Amino acid sequence: MADIVFGPVPSRRLGRSLGINNIPPPKRCSYSCIYCQLGRTKILTTERRRFYDTRVLKRALSERLTEINEDDIDYITFVPDGEPTLDESLGEHVKVIRESLDKPIAILTNSSLISIEGVRRDLMKFDLVSIKLDAVSEEVWRKINRPHPSLNLSDILDGMRIFRREFPGKLLSETMLIDGVNSERSEIKQIADELSKIDPDKAYLAIPTRPPAENWVKPVNEEKLVESYEVFSESLGRDRVELLIGYEGMEFKIGRDPVKDLLSIATIHPIRLDYIYQILSKLIHNPNELIERLVNSGEMRIVKYRGKTFLIRRRREMDGE
Ligand code: SF4
Repeated sequence: MADIVFGPVPSRRLGRSLGINNIPPPKRCSYSCIYCQLGRTKILTTERRRFYDTRVLKRALSERLTEINEDDIDYITFVPDGEPTLDESLGEHVKVIRESLDKPIAILTNSSLISIEGVRRDLMKFDLVSIKLDAVSEEVWRKINRPHPSLNLSDILDGMRIFRREFPGKLLSETMLIDGVNSERSEIKQIADELSKIDPDKAYLAIPTRPPAENWVKPVNEEKLVESYEVFSESLGRDRVELLIGYEGMEFKIGRDPVKDLLSIATIHPIRLDYIYQILSKLIHNPNELIERLVNSGEMRIVKYRGKTFLIRRRREMDGE
C-alpha cells in the first residue's frame, strides 16, 4: 500500500509540505495529461467514491507526526497519484486533519470536477486550492488534458468562477506550457483572459520538469516563456504571475549577494535588462560585467520580446512539484 502520508517535501509554492496521497494506485484521474509525470492514466474516470477510511488516514498522520518535527511543516497538501477530488471522503479527511494539527491545508486539483457542488463544498474546507487551466479552446484542451468524455470545458470554467466567488481562501492557478500544443499566443491570451475572470491570487506558468507521459512532449523555450509571462501579466498584473520552472529560491531582493539574488528573481520573473541594470548600478561597480558573466556561464539567457530585452534563468536541473 502506498504511503498515505509522506514528507515533508519541499514545494516551490508551499514551502515544506506534508503530503497526503488519498488516491491509491493504479493512477486514477479524470484527465490523462500528455505531460503527466505519473504516466498515462490507468483508470480514466469522473466517478467519486471512497478510498481510504478516514480513521486510516488519521492513524497514518499521527504515526508520521511522531517521526517528524511539526515546526518543519508549512502546509499539509493533498497531492495524490491521481485527482484528489475523486475521493468522496475528502471533506471528512480535511476535518480530521484539522483536529490533529494546526497547519494550513492545501490541495492541488485539476479542477475538472469543480462544477459539481459537492466537490466545491469539499474544496471550500481548504486554506489553499491550486487549480489547473492549460487550455481554453476545446481542441487544445482535448489534446493536452485528454479529459474523460463526460467532461465539459465550459462547465469547468463556470465552476471555477463560482468557486472563486464562494472561496475565502487562497486560490492559485497553474498552466503547463507545452511546445506546439498550447503555446500559440492566441491560446495563451485566452487562458490569461479567462484567468482574469476567475481571479486567482497567483497564476503560475509551468513547464514539465520530469519525464512526461508522452515522450514527444517538449516544454516551451525561454522566448516563449517570456512571451507567455508578459501576456499573462497584461491580463492579470505582474504581481500575480510567476514562473514555476524548476528552481527553488524565491527571495525578492538584491542584497549582499547580487548573483544569488538575481538568479532567484529571474527564476520566477523574467527581468527587464534596463531595470536590473539600474538596480545593480547602485550596488556594484560594473553591472555589465556581472550580467555578462551570468550569461556566458549559461546561468541566464538574454531574450528579446517586443523590442524589450529580458534576462531569464536558463532551465537546467528540472525538479517538478
Ligand atoms: S490531472 Fe494531474 S494527475 Fe491527472 S493526468 Fe493530469 S497531471 Fe496527471
